[in-house]
Amino acid sequence: MPPIRRSNLGRRTRRAIISQNVRGNQTQVERAEENEWRRAHIAQVRAAQSSPQIQQNVVRTPAINAGLNRAAFEYNSAIAYKDIRCVDIGSLSVVCQHCNALKFQSETPGLCCAGGKVKLPVLTHPPEPLHSLLYGNTIQSKHFLENTQKYNGCFQMKSFGAQVVDVPGYSPTFKIQGQIHHRAGALLPLPNEDHKFLQIHFVGDSAIELDQRCAIFTATKREMIEQLQNLLHEHNELVRLFKTALDMI
Ligand SMILES: [Zn+2]
Repeated sequence: MPPIRRSNLGRRTRRAIISQNVRGNQTQVERAEENEWRRAHIAQVRAAQSSPQIQQNVVRTPAINAGLNRAAFEYNSAIAYKDIRCVDIGSLSVVCQHCNALKFQSETPGLCCAGGKVKLPVLTHPPEPLHSLLYGNTIQSKHFLENTQKYNGCFQMKSFGAQVVDVPGYSPTFKIQGQIHHRAGALLPLPNEDHKFLQIHFVGDSAIELDQRCAIFTATKREMIEQLQNLLHEHNELVRLFKTALDMI
């Protein structure tokens, strides 16, 4: 006798359970907003399907999609990507009523701030001299904005870490798998080794610290690095936190 095949119709998927939990935590207003968004989205999809021009595009989509495989890594300036419908995601024309975030048409209402539940503190102006360097109209400001990557490099605290997946052959890009992380390393170097990255903040002598930073990139101005170094020691939360940890050790 053949085994009895059980129906799969009543089975709740993981996605359905998550969706039900999310909707269970929504207020009536949020649920009404999401329903309204879903109605508008479905109406848009149906309108697109009934348009003869779009139907023509829909038929062509699989072939175009196949041709776009890895296109982001092999950009070809001869191809007018903006004319390919599946690449066009529209403009940032939707404004969130809670946080004023700009979003694309197909993004969900809760994507930016979970319907007003997430409230971030307002960004304050950066302290001087960073504010003048970023927004000023001086020669120093112009030089700083043209070389921000180098100045940033003089003060980097950590290195980027991820599991890199080997892809045969040369490629200017690399592929990672899993979660990215930051490598901070030890607060102090090993004996007979130079201070590196975060460790430079804890050299203990501002002139030696400045020498080490200036040696990282030659196209930077010493007086500007000195100003930024003093700023970080005074205002940067991470530097202050690590200094306290080092004092305790
Ligand atoms: Zn929002």
